[in-house]
Amino acid sequence: MDIMQTDEVAFVTGAASGIGRAVAFRLAARGAAVALVDLDARKLEPIVRELEARGARTSALACDVSSSDSVQAAIGRTVGEFGGLDTAVCAAGIARIGDVVSAPEDDWHRTLAVNLTGTYLVARHAMPHLVHRKGAFVAISSDAGVRGSTGFAAYCASKHGVIGLVRCLALDHGPQGVRANVVCPSFVDTPMADQLLAAPGVQSRAFYERRAPLGRFAQPEEVANVVAHLSSDEASYTNGMVYVVDGGTTAGTFEAKG
Ligand code: NAP
Repeated sequence: MDIMQTDEVAFVTGAASGIGRAVAFRLAARGAAVALVDLDARKLEPIVRELEARGARTSALACDVSSSDSVQAAIGRTVGEFGGLDTAVCAAGIARIGDVVSAPEDDWHRTLAVNLTGTYLVARHAMPHLVHRKGAFVAISSDAGVRGSTGFAAYCASKHGVIGLVRCLALDHGPQGVRANVVCPSFVDTPMADQLLAAPGVQSRAFYERRAPLGRFAQPEEVANVVAHLSSDEASYTNGMVYVVDGGTTAGTFEAKG
């Protein structure tokens, strides 16, 4: 189906894979021009081709979200090419396994740098543009942002931090017309989940599926739908919200029957 373009300009990190990719497709489908941002621009090329074939306006930007210069340049190029910024979505992330003793210190620093500092840097450089257009900021945290998880110390710390950061964005920039919200998925069917489940000492996919009342992982599109809602006028009074998308996993203690 051909896309009806609107004036919306979106900036999506982690757009080459998983949730970020699904968000890019979802926002492009509602007519936004989408800056697709990821570490390796070559991984973005097939996505750009597919979206442009549908009539979307896109731009593929190589960017390391842990680098202030890199994020500033990517946002500058987006605003230069499309004329402003309405929607910023932070989906770039990494997951490293281990407790504070077993995991190398480098894993701690890199996880915080990408997941937390990366979200901060996008907020920092995007905010003046979002204020100008009274736009929306959406970060992807995790169910590991609202509770601890065995063997995920750095990841949990980074994702708890993202929630604290987004709550402050909502307070600091709500008065300027910008809404900031955070989405917390549990397991989503993406390359990151595959990589985690293949790691030594991690439980099987079936184990985690049994812990979810809905009995399965989320699809990336199910998370993208929530991001699309939170960044649209449908959510015009939603600010500082921690939106858990986990099939009920964190609703309480769940025991699968049978
Ligand atoms: P994914 O499929 O691995 O996609 C993440 C993307 O981010 C990859 O393309 C990755 O590139 C990119 N990236 C990594 N470091 C980056 C950096 N420094 N700068 C720019 N891009 C970078 O993961 P996903 O499952 O879609 O995860 C998206 C977000 O959702 C993450 O924040 C993750 O923590 C969160 N989340 C995921 C799950 C899940 O079960 N999948 C659950 C809860 C929350 P490379 O592949 O080249 O590293």
